[in-house]
Amino acid sequence: MVRAIVGANWGDEGKGKITDMLARESDIIIRFQGGSNAGHTIINDYGRFALHLLPSGVFYGHTTNIIGNGVALNIPYLFREVESLVSQGVPKPRILVSDRAQILMPYHILFDQYEEERLGGKSFGSTKSGIAPFYSDKYAKIGFQVSELFDEAALKEKIKRVCETKNILLEHLYHKPLLNPDELFEEMMQYRAMAEPYVCDVSAFLAQALREGKRILLEGQLGSLKDPDHGIYPMVTSSSTLAAYGAIGAGIPPYEIRQITAVVKAYSSAVGAGAFVSEIFGDEADELRRRGGDKGEFGATTGRPRRVGWFDAVASRYGCRIQGATEAVLTVLDVLGYLDEIPICTGYEIDGAVTRDFPVTCRLEKAKPVFQTMPGWKCDIRGIREYDKLPAACRAYIEAIEKELGVPVAMVSNGPGRDEIIYRR
Ligand code: GDP
Repeated sequence: MVRAIVGANWGDEGKGKITDMLARESDIIIRFQGGSNAGHTIINDYGRFALHLLPSGVFYGHTTNIIGNGVALNIPYLFREVESLVSQGVPKPRILVSDRAQILMPYHILFDQYEEERLGGKSFGSTKSGIAPFYSDKYAKIGFQVSELFDEAALKEKIKRVCETKNILLEHLYHKPLLNPDELFEEMMQYRAMAEPYVCDVSAFLAQALREGKRILLEGQLGSLKDPDHGIYPMVTSSSTLAAYGAIGAGIPPYEIRQITAVVKAYSSAVGAGAFVSEIFGDEADELRRRGGDKGEFGATTGRPRRVGWFDAVASRYGCRIQGATEAVLTVLDVLGYLDEIPICTGYEIDGAVTRDFPVTCRLEKAKPVFQTMPGWKCDIRGIREYDKLPAACRAYIEAIEKELGVPVAMVSNGPGRDEIIYRR
C-alpha cells in the first residue's frame, strides 16, 4: 500500500509533522523530488529538528528512509544531516539512496548564486541550493547519476567535457573563477566514499517491498502551487511537487498510490515572490506571522519572514484537485484562536468578474480576493483530542473549508507536536 503526503498550498503546510506522525505505521518513507531547498520542521521526543534532505521518517528505528531517483542529491549535505541527527541523540537511521538519483554538483550551487546576482532585482528569490541549475542539467542530459561515481574512467572523461561548457559561461557570462576538472574529480571520489554505504537499486527494492505488502509513504516537498506545470509558473520550483510524480521519482507503478493525503494550512503562507491573492500586510500580517507555526512564520531553510494571508479556498481547492487528494489534513488551526472573525478567500475578482477557478499566472496577477467572514472561537484549542470537544465555531470553520475543498478533512492538527492531532473518520 502506498500513501502520498503532499502539500496543497505553497509549501510549509506542516507535511513534516504529519509524515513523522504517520511514519509510526509505515515501513518505508521516500523523498521523490526536490532537494535540500526547503525544510520540514519536526518536534518529537528527541527535540526540534529542521530536516531538509532526509525523509521525515528517520526518527523511528523500524523505518527505511529512501532518497529516490527524483531527488536533487547533495551528498555532503545528506551526510551532515545524518551526523547532526546522531549528535542530537537520534539512533542512526536506515537510509537508502537510489543509484539513479542525480548528484547536486558543487557548481550547481555556484551557478544558482551567480545567476541570482546577474538577475539582480528580477531574480526568482532562489534559496541558492543549486536546484534550478541541477534540474536544468538533468534534462539537458549533462547530469551525473550516483551510479556514474563507480566508473572512474568514464567519470573523468565526462567531468572534463562538462567543465568545458560550464567554463565558457563562467568566463564570459559570469566573470567568475573557472572549474578545474581534476579537483572536481577528486571531490566526486569523496562523494563516492560518503554515498557508497547507502546506494542501491531503489525501484527493485520497492517492487519487492510491494510484493511483501509493506506500507510505503511518499513524502512531497513544497506544494501544488510550486509545481512547474500546474503552479504559479515561473515562481515555482524545478521539480514536480505532485503525488503523481511520486511514481516516477521513486520508481513504482502509478496505480500503487492508493491514498493521497493533501496537507492544507488553516491560513496561507508563502516564501519567495509570486502572486499571493489572499496576502495580508501591516500589523494584521505581523500578528499572524508572529503567532504562526511553532516559532512564527520564518523559513526553515533561509530564516526569511514568510508572507502570510487568510485561507484561500480557490487556491486550496485547486491544490487538492491537482494533487488528486483522497483526503485532506488541516494544519496549524490552533494559531487562529486569537481572532474575533476569520476571513476566508472564496473567490478571485479578475477584470470585474468573480471566479472560483484558479487561473493561469497572467490572470492570477490581476486577481483581487473576495472574502467571507467566519466567527472566531477565541480560545486555545491545543490539547483537545476529540473533534466533538472543539468549540462549535471552530468546527464550523473546518466544515466550511471542507465544503470548499470538496475533499474530506480526515485530520485536524492543533499543535506542532507528534500527538497534537484530531482524527475525524
Ligand atoms: P513542511 O515543509 O510542510 O513540513 O512545513 P514546515 O515544517 O516548514 O512548516 C510548518 C510549521 O508549522 C513548522 O514550524 C511546524 O512545527 C508547525 N506546525 C505544524 N503543524 C502545526 C500545528 O498544527 N500547529 C502549530 N501551531 N504549528 C504547527
